[in-house]
Amino acid sequence: MKVTDHIKKANGKTMFSFEIIPPQKGKNIQELYNNIDPLMEFNPPFIDVTTSREEFVYIERDGLFDRKVTRMRPGTVGICAALKHKYNVDTIPHVLCGGFTKEETEYLLVDCQYLGIENVMALRGDAMKHQRYFEPTDGGHTYATELVTQIRNMCEGKYLHETIEASNCSDFCIGVAGYPEKHLEAPSLDFDLKKLKEKVDAGADYIVTQMFFDNSKFFEFLEKAKSAGINVPIIPGIKPIAVKKHLQLLPQVFKIDLPEDLVNAVDSCKNNKEVRQVGIEWCIQQSKELKDAGVPLLHYYSMGKSDNIKAIASALF
Ligand code: FAD
Repeated sequence: MKVTDHIKKANGKTMFSFEIIPPQKGKNIQELYNNIDPLMEFNPPFIDVTTSREEFVYIERDGLFDRKVTRMRPGTVGICAALKHKYNVDTIPHVLCGGFTKEETEYLLVDCQYLGIENVMALRGDAMKHQRYFEPTDGGHTYATELVTQIRNMCEGKYLHETIEASNCSDFCIGVAGYPEKHLEAPSLDFDLKKLKEKVDAGADYIVTQMFFDNSKFFEFLEKAKSAGINVPIIPGIKPIAVKKHLQLLPQVFKIDLPEDLVNAVDSCKNNKEVRQVGIEWCIQQSKELKDAGVPLLHYYSMGKSDNIKAIASALF
């Protein structure tokens, strides 16, 4: 079922959903199942599966290093199919501009259609580690808006090669990313919202936000999005802090603010076990307030181990 239909069907009740990362190449999928199993009792209408773009790996041979390009966490669509089959749940593959040609994206979407996947999350992706800024892949898209347009075109039977006569069109529900504290590259929140509106105008059906730790940023974002003419559902993405290092890492990588009370609470922890507990408690309070405000879903970034997400969900659902 489409995300927008799940939201309509819930009739104002806040639902629980989460995002997982595919295992590294060579690892067993069982570990992923072990982390998902405890979360299924909270009836997620869907599970998001992230996509990682290619990266450089260095292989030592006779004292010299060979540089190879590879994707370390492939298999997003395969995992979506496996989870759909195992748990009878909707799954949402993340589709990226970075690292993929338009042609490859078309193949991926065709696979999704055959597998009965009804939702896709359209994202630009980040720059590769050695790049200062995002550079579009040869034959790929520069911005997520273009990717949304490609997906929407395909739903209207317009494939890349105009000679294709489509008799069975796909009908994807398309999600895109939104940033309550603006995207790190955007010159201002207003500019970013203008670009977000373009994604919606191109055919996005719903928005999932970047993580935030201060709900007031999310509520302000909702207001501003509404004023910018964005009327699709906006789903808050949230993540519990799990290790002390997050105090530096999260502001550095995502350019987001951490509230002073949270920083102090984490800073005074003696070890990461205590940090994990602080993260859970903060996230429960955050989630309760969001739930009371009537958000359609609480979408958690699970990042591997799910014990903290289970503790949060148990307090709320
Ligand atoms: P865009 O919407 O293309 O925006 C990127 C930047 O360009 C913004 O600053 C925007 O303001 C600006 N911009 C947009 N259009 C234009 C234009 N026409 N002209 C000038 N500027 C423009 N990354 C992954 O690699 N894999 C994942 O699975 C993944 N999942 C994610 C899920 C969520 C919910 C979120 C919030 C992020 C996710 N990301 C993922 C990270 C995402 O790829 C990065 O944040 C990326 O830097 C931006 O992606 P976007 O789709 O928001 O890009």
